[in-house]
Amino acid sequence: MAPRSVLITGANRGIGLGLLKQFLKVKDIQIIIATCRDPTKAEELNALKNDARLHILPLNIDDDESISALYNSVSQLVGEDGLTVLLNNAGVLLPYDVEGEKSRSTMLRQLETNAVSTALMIQEFLPLLKKASEKSAIDGFSIDRSAIVNISSTSASVHMIDGSFNGPIVAYRMSKSALNSFAKSCSIELAKYHILITSFCPGWVKTDMGGANAQLEIEDATSTLVGNILKLDKAHHGAFLDRTLKVIPN
Ligand code: NDP
Repeated sequence: MAPRSVLITGANRGIGLGLLKQFLKVKDIQIIIATCRDPTKAEELNALKNDARLHILPLNIDDDESISALYNSVSQLVGEDGLTVLLNNAGVLLPYDVEGEKSRSTMLRQLETNAVSTALMIQEFLPLLKKASEKSAIDGFSIDRSAIVNISSTSASVHMIDGSFNGPIVAYRMSKSALNSFAKSCSIELAKYHILITSFCPGWVKTDMGGANAQLEIEDATSTLVGNILKLDKAHHGAFLDRTLKVIPN
C-alpha cells in the first residue's frame, strides 16, 4: 500500500526536494504534487518532470490567493478521491537572539511562514483531506487514508531547551512551537474524520537553512524520513517525532 496522492510544499530545494525524490521512488503513489514559489526558476525540480505522476504548481504559503489557487488546481487533479497526504515542509529561519537587536518584523516573518501560513494551508486543504478519508476503505488512522505531515524541528521542544544549543534561533523556535501547538489541536479536533497528523524533525541537514556543517546529507535524512512517513498509523497520530519515529517531548 501507499498513499494515492501526496502534496509537498517548498519542493524546489533542500529537504522538500529530497522528500520529493524519495516519494517518486514509491511506485504505488499515483499523483505527486510539488509546489514552489516560482516553478519557472526551479531547475532541479523541472528536471524530474519525465515522471508523469509529478505535477509542479506555484505556491507562496504567505499569500492567501496563492493558497486558494493551489487548492482549485489540486481539486481538479485529485478529483473525488481527495488528497491523501499534505506535507508541509516550506519554512524559514532568520537569526534572532534574546540579547540582539529587537525586530518585530524578523520575529513576525518566521511566525507567519512557519506557523500561521502552515496552519492556513491545513485549514484550506481540509475538504480534500476529508474526501480522501471518506473514500478510503481503510479503517482508523493511516498514512494511506488521509494525513497531514508537518516538518517541524527539535528546537520547537520547550521541554528540551537546556542551554546546550545557543544559536540565534529563538524566533524560529517560537514559530515551530506554535506550529506544533496547532498540530496537537488538529489531532484532537480532526480525529473524528480519521485524518492523521504527525510532526517530524528531519534532523540537522545540509541545506541552505541547515548549513554546510550539518550532520546529515539530504538523501540520508529524507530516505529515512519517507520510509517512516509511509509507516504512520494510529500510534503516531498527534505525535512529534524524529525521523526514526522516536518521540520528541513537546
Ligand atoms: P531551505 O531553506 O533549504 O528550503 C526552504 C524551502 O521552503 C524552500 O523551498 C523555500 O522556497 C520554501 N519556502 C520558504 N518560504 C516559503 C513561502 N512563503 N512559500 C512557499 N515556500 C516557501 O530549508 P530546509 O530544506 O533545510 O528546510 C525545510 C524544512 O525543514 C523547514 O520547515 C525547516 O524549518 C525544517 N528543518 C530543517 C532543518 C535543517 O537542518 N535543514 C532542521 C529542522 C527542521 P524558496 O526557494 O522560494 O525560498
